[in-house]
Amino acid sequence: MVRLSEIKLPLDHEEPALQLAILAKLRITPDDLVGFSIFKRSYDARSKANIVLVYIVDVETRQDERLLAKFAKDPHVVRTPDMHYEVVAQAPPGLVERPIVIGMGPCGMFTALMLARMGFRPIVLERGKAVLERSADTFNFWRRRQPLNPESNAQFGEGGAGTFSDGKLYTQVRDPKHHGRKVLMELVEAGASPEILYINKPHIGTYKLIGIVQHIRATIEALGGEIRFQARVEDFDIVDGKIRGVRLLGGEYLASSHVVLAIGHSARDTFEQLVACGVYVEAKPFSIGFRVEHPQALIDNARFGPNAGHKVLGAADYKLVHHCKNGRSVYSFCMCPGGLVVAAASEPGRLVTNGMSQYARNEANANSAIVVGITPEDYPGDPLAGVALQRRLEEAAFALGGGTYDAPGQKVGDFLAGRPSEDLGGVKPSYAPGVRLGDLSQALPDFAIAAIREALPAFNKQIKGFAMDDAILTGVETRTSSPIRIKRNDDDLQSINTVGLFPAGEGAGYAGGILSAGIDGIKVAEAVALSLVRGQAG
Ligand SMILES: Cc1cc2nc3c(=O)[nH]c(=O)nc-3n(C[C@H](O)[C@H](O)[C@H](O)COP(=O)(O)OP(=O)(O)OC[C@H]3O[C@@H](n4cnc5c(N)ncnc54)[C@H](O)[C@@H]3O)c2cc1C
Repeated sequence: MVRLSEIKLPLDHEEPALQLAILAKLRITPDDLVGFSIFKRSYDARSKANIVLVYIVDVETRQDERLLAKFAKDPHVVRTPDMHYEVVAQAPPGLVERPIVIGMGPCGMFTALMLARMGFRPIVLERGKAVLERSADTFNFWRRRQPLNPESNAQFGEGGAGTFSDGKLYTQVRDPKHHGRKVLMELVEAGASPEILYINKPHIGTYKLIGIVQHIRATIEALGGEIRFQARVEDFDIVDGKIRGVRLLGGEYLASSHVVLAIGHSARDTFEQLVACGVYVEAKPFSIGFRVEHPQALIDNARFGPNAGHKVLGAADYKLVHHCKNGRSVYSFCMCPGGLVVAAASEPGRLVTNGMSQYARNEANANSAIVVGITPEDYPGDPLAGVALQRRLEEAAFALGGGTYDAPGQKVGDFLAGRPSEDLGGVKPSYAPGVRLGDLSQALPDFAIAAIREALPAFNKQIKGFAMDDAILTGVETRTSSPIRIKRNDDDLQSINTVGLFPAGEGAGYAGGILSAGIDGIKVAEAVALSLVRGQAG
């Protein structure tokens, strides 16, 4: 197969245009063409009036080798790389030991799925509930002002933190073995639209994710795996630097010498227990800030001009960065076109925001987190000092919001002018339960407020209207990534001081989103499988 890149076609091109472009590029006749498939479709919107679609296609011809030789010097004509996934091992017959996977977020889900596909019958322990019950708890908290359930919410439960999300599926992690492709293929098998395989920056949307998560659970179980909900791991049995098993809330003990820690960035109690058990944990950088909401139409117009609203382009996104005079960097994070701001708390008395969208991305507002990078120098001390800072900021936000899980909010114009907001303008905040207007300058450290005040007008130069008076800020955003790293060896992916413990995914500091967590899940499944096979052989 031959991979062609940089094939540019008008936004409204007819279907046959792509085939014609392939024939023209390769200078072949239709008889020479066996078939083709789209590997990636993105767009180039640098000229808003003339946005073009940019394709990468895999083409099968009757003369692949001749064409590859003919275009040897053209970087846009190459041999299609082999992205086929092969499992690294199969469970030996009679293997008694079953690996334990803690957490059923994207990382734990893909670890368990791949272990199950290799015949290792994993046991998944998830502190939260199955996804439908979890959805009911979360929506009751959001929409009906029912109490926060600390074990069943936007962070905890089947599907993990990404279940009520935009389901954005892109990452910048290095992925030489194409594990990301494997994650996408599995998601399609579980019910995601095949378009995620070729659209640049694909997304799934909350409701679809719920069905996909259930499908993956059924596959793991059909392959001999076991998934236990409301099974919170409370303690780790570590002897002479080796894990022997885990203890659940309620006292039940499960033995295993292979335990995957895919616990996400919000399992603060579990982080504390890991430190108490002597597992090596260190503080790592993360970011803090606010969510900002604008009319989606403003973003669409700024990005797409006369092509705003075009069905192929959908709701526009953005990615912004500003390097401040005080040495801090401010950037947009987890941008949700046509989405909602959601209550992402998991601890009583603490408030944190995040964002999600449905597949259609057709809500009135665009939202993103506008965050400032911070490092352990900002929270010196023990490895969990970042967690303590997150908790302090979330408690302050809870108090500023009135102690009812209403988020504190402020209009951008008032935030920049340094006066509290009293009334909403044209942008209605989407956060539920509700928003209490006031002064957000007390919600973050002074350096972060100064940095965001400098960044918003700078962003306004890139997206006209970004610093509009009525745009609305809510907060706080503290869970942009894990505040800790549970360090592991590069080769066997086991904790640097606890044999058999495999720190994985976002909570351990090895992923930063759904796709990268899934990729890490596959890597860790392979490491566990190889270790189990070698242990059996030896
Ligand atoms: C509202 C929201 C929107 C988001 N939107 C996107 C997006 O559009 N795209 C994107 O790429 N990323 C998004 N993210 C981030 C993404 O969800 C995470 O990066 C990803 O889920 C991390 O995967 P993980 O498996 O490492 O951890 P998690 O998904 O956090 O899963 C960890 C799981 O472990 C369980 N657990 C924790 N402790 C224990 C214990 N002691 N015992 C048993 N179980 C335990 C938890 O209940 C949880 O289910 C969003 C996050 C949120 C909250």
